[in-house]
Amino acid sequence: MRQSKLFTKTRREAPADEVAKNAQLLIRGGFVHKEMAGVYSYLPLGLRVLTKIENIIREEMDAIGGQEIRMATLHPSEKWKTTGGWDAVDVLFKIQSRTEKEYALGQSEEEIVTPIAQEYALSYKDLPVAIYQIGQKYRDELRAKSGVMRGREFGMKDMYSFHETQEDFEKFYEIVKASYLKAFNRCGLEVKVTEASGGAFSEKLSYEFMALSDAGEDDILYCNACTHCVNVEIAKEKEGNACPKCGKGKLMKARAVEVGNVFDLGQKYPKAFGFTYKDTEGKEQTPIVGCYGFGTSRLVGTIVETFADEKGMVWPEGVAPFAIHLVSLGKDSDEISKTADALYDDLVRAGVEVLYDDRDMRAGEKFADSDLLGIPKRIVVGKDAVNTGEFEVVNRATGEVVKTSRAKLVG
Ligand code: ATP
Ligand code: MG
Repeated sequence: MRQSKLFTKTRREAPADEVAKNAQLLIRGGFVHKEMAGVYSYLPLGLRVLTKIENIIREEMDAIGGQEIRMATLHPSEKWKTTGGWDAVDVLFKIQSRTEKEYALGQSEEEIVTPIAQEYALSYKDLPVAIYQIGQKYRDELRAKSGVMRGREFGMKDMYSFHETQEDFEKFYEIVKASYLKAFNRCGLEVKVTEASGGAFSEKLSYEFMALSDAGEDDILYCNACTHCVNVEIAKEKEGNACPKCGKGKLMKARAVEVGNVFDLGQKYPKAFGFTYKDTEGKEQTPIVGCYGFGTSRLVGTIVETFADEKGMVWPEGVAPFAIHLVSLGKDSDEISKTADALYDDLVRAGVEVLYDDRDMRAGEKFADSDLLGIPKRIVVGKDAVNTGEFEVVNRATGEVVKTSRAKLVG
């Protein structure tokens, strides 16, 4: 894409009321537009990042047999009254229509997915089944000071699985855990898995996926030798203690962001809706349900917070809006511009995702914008490139510069 055609522009200052680093940088780069506290619109560059994250988790869920659907987010109040969530869930947005009917905005989708599964999972032959969606959620969050990391409207991938036995559910639970770790890894993040209490959903244990980041709202203790990790809030353990799991490592304390979790919901929701299936002997049984959340838009913010430096954002390759930022130092249609144009065409033809800064601006301004946008590799086309036929490729994260021939760049 030619940057001269991009309708968004960078800006020097973020809005004065925006305190979170992630939102400040995303707004300055033109990735998101702030509508109000906790509510952001995604602009072309931001949407490209969000879509990359969505596609990563979509691929991982499909790989373990998840089936994607898109559920309604405007919910009839009756379903929430059926489960008790209407009164119990404090973050639920409630709406009254002009005909005085009541609705809820989806903050999670158990109330919708359970009746859907109930309609189709009639016998043991229809189980297990795992259904997921990627979409918007609405929560009346009190604290909305963390930018896109804690939205009142935000993106989530939520999956729900229905099983005949606890054993079958627990097997699947482990499979999802492994696929989540793969997804976070593809997003460039180091994530620890804590065991935590299920909170409002159930008394049962759950896993929380914690990305190490100072912008987080949780404190965790993790072992520096094995995978043991706990949330400080619930832990009896202390920083510096020997690891109770492996005995070899030491417990380290860190601030972390919850980027995903998996819950054992037991039979609560099928019981509320009277959802039973016929077992092998034709007897009615209640399925066991698991739910699996993955914060797609929270990840956008977490990635910014984790990798940004004093110059701006730094995107890991797997989620970057573009792979290459091609910066031309040419003017009008001089030799430099022609060389840059030709390289841009070649890169596009080779299937490389490239943002081409073809704007008529000073080099210093272009480099500052490029640093702010944080595309992993920058190719600068100046006089040298025209004279030598070689291009400087700058790594945004490390600042390392390598000279590369055109043939190598376009593969
Ligand atoms: P938190 O403790 O941070 O409020 P939660 O326990 O309420 O999270 P879930 O209801 O399980 O989270 O939602 C699943 C995932 O959705 C979370 O792990 C997180 O990544 C994301 N998420 C939850 N609330 C928000 C929010 N307000 N804004 C952005 N992402 C969110
Ligand atoms: Mg919450």
